[in-house]
Formats: sequence, C-alpha cells, structure tokens
Amino acid sequence: MSTSHFKSGYVSITGRPNVGKSTLLNMILGQKIAIVTEKPQTTRNRIIGIKNLEGAQIIFIDTPGIHSPRHKLGEIMVKEAKEAIKDVDIVLLMVEPFKEKIKEEMEIINLLRSVGKPVILLINKIDKVRKQDILPLIDEYSKLFHFNEIIPISALYSDGIDRLLKVIVDTLPEGPLYYPPDQITDQIERFVIAELIREQVMLHTREEVPHSVHVEVVDWKERENGLINISANIYVERESQKGIIIGREGQRLKSIGTKARKNIEGLLNARVYLELWVKVKKNWRDNIYILKELGFK
Ligand code: GDP
Ligand code: MG
Repeated sequence: MSTSHFKSGYVSITGRPNVGKSTLLNMILGQKIAIVTEKPQTTRNRIIGIKNLEGAQIIFIDTPGIHSPRHKLGEIMVKEAKEAIKDVDIVLLMVEPFKEKIKEEMEIINLLRSVGKPVILLINKIDKVRKQDILPLIDEYSKLFHFNEIIPISALYSDGIDRLLKVIVDTLPEGPLYYPPDQITDQIERFVIAELIREQVMLHTREEVPHSVHVEVVDWKERENGLINISANIYVERESQKGIIIGREGQRLKSIGTKARKNIEGLLNARVYLELWVKVKKNWRDNIYILKELGFK
C-alpha cells in the first residue's frame, strides 16, 4: 500500500461539561477501540482513543487546559490551553443546540481565534430540537468564527457521525500510521499493571483478602525526566480488608507497592513512581453504578 496519501493526525474534542464529548467518542470508537487510555502523548495532551479508517488514522486526544469551566478562563488557563492545542491538527468544538447558550461559548471561541487551527463545530443533541431551529443556529455560529465546517449531530443517536468522520479525514494532513492499526498496547499495559499490583496484594495477604479485590490504574503521567507516575486504586469490599492490605503502620502496602513497582518498571522499561490507594467499595461487583464509575461497560 502506498502511504503517500494516507491521512492521519491528532484531533481534540473540546467543549463544556455535559455537551456530549464522551458520548461522541464512545459512539465513534464503538467496538473498534484501539486505545482508550490516559497515557499522555505529551505531558499536556493525552490519547483517549484511536479510530482507524480505510486510508486514515484519527487520534483523539484530550487537551486538559482547554475545557472551559464554569468560571472564566484565567490567564494561565488560556496559556495552557493554547499550549495544548499547539500539537493538534484539528479542534472539534462541541456545543448544545440552544441559542441562549451561544454567549457561554464566546470565551472558548475567542481562544481558538488566536491559535489558528482548523476548528470543526459540532452542534450536538439535535434530537432535542426541531429541525427548523438548527439552520438559524448554524447561521449564528458562522457569524462568530470561521469554522472549517459546522456539523449538526446527535452523538447519542449516531446521527451525523459518518459525515463528521469524513470531514475530519478530509481536513487531516497527510501523515504516517502513527500506531499499528490493531494496537491495543496501552490498554494492555494498564491492564497488566493492574494485574501486577493485584498479584502482590494476593501474595501479601493470602486468603485473608478475597479474590474479589479489584485494582484500577487511575492516573498515569509521564514526567519530563522519563519518570512515570502511576496512581492506582485497590478496591476492597470491607473496612477490615482495607486494614489488612495497609498493614501495621502501612508496612504491608509499602511492601506491595515496592514489589509491584519493580515488576512494572520491568514491564515498561522505565522508572516508575507508584502511588497506591486502598478504597472500600461495598459490594462493588453488584452495584452497576459503581461498576460504571470503575470503567466497566
Ligand atoms: P461530556 O461531559 O461532554 O463528556 O458529556 P457526556 O458524553 O457525558 O454526555 C452528557 C449527557 O448528555 C449524557 O446524559 C448523555 O447521554 C447526553 N447526551 C450526549 N449526547 C447526546 C445527544 O446527542 N442527544 C441527547 N438527547 N443527549 C445526549
Ligand atoms: Mg465526558
């Protein structure tokens, strides 16, 4: 296959809380999730998913600084946001389909003005409004900023997603296959790391702590000096189990952490700082809400 016309690049999904960013990502990635991870691409951006298409690879990333909070973007946040967008090929700005909300988007739009990247506006949740209300919205937004494209979608009902993907691919530069199309390495790494920790919990506690103990890697940051900060939660069902894992003066947890860290360092071939937290989640296996919180589908 000739790679000269292959399209690829980094796309950030930004927008206020609750506009539907996660829903869109889940819908786009669907079963074909290559990676859903928090492993950072740079110290600022993290990959949240990769979509492989015929002739293209879209790497969705999160740009932490750019999420506009309820309060005004501070000077530092603006600076960080700009820095974060620097390495992005396309910005997706997602908004809700309500006219009265436009003014809330001005801050982020003004920010995007100064970064000079292609911006695709996604007007999400169009299932919630009448068809005839959408065109005026597009009109309003197109007056505010020179969006490369304005696409009405419903992330929830998968409306407009194919068009969105086509527009993204058209807008992406030519580029290499950044990740093997079947790469699931990062996900496996996280899983294996959780297992390495769980293994040490088991080895240190034997039958005192049931096998229902669940470990989840909750944070992963690569420092500039190459040190990888990994933070993981160890979930148990009872307060007493928590006590056993932590041990007297934290000695057992310390030993669990040291052993697990050495194994993880071997796996990643890097220096690791491992932070472990023991948490009680009562009946976590039975509670669907908690399972969701833990990242189960
Ligand atoms: P995020 O905070 O931007 O990631 O937003 P989420 O993806 O978590 O979605 C927030 C809420 O909006 C959830 O209740 C979603 O089900 C809902 N939502 C997302 N997309 C749509 C959509 O296209 N239509 C409707 N009606 N609801 C949506
Ligand atoms: Mg979300």
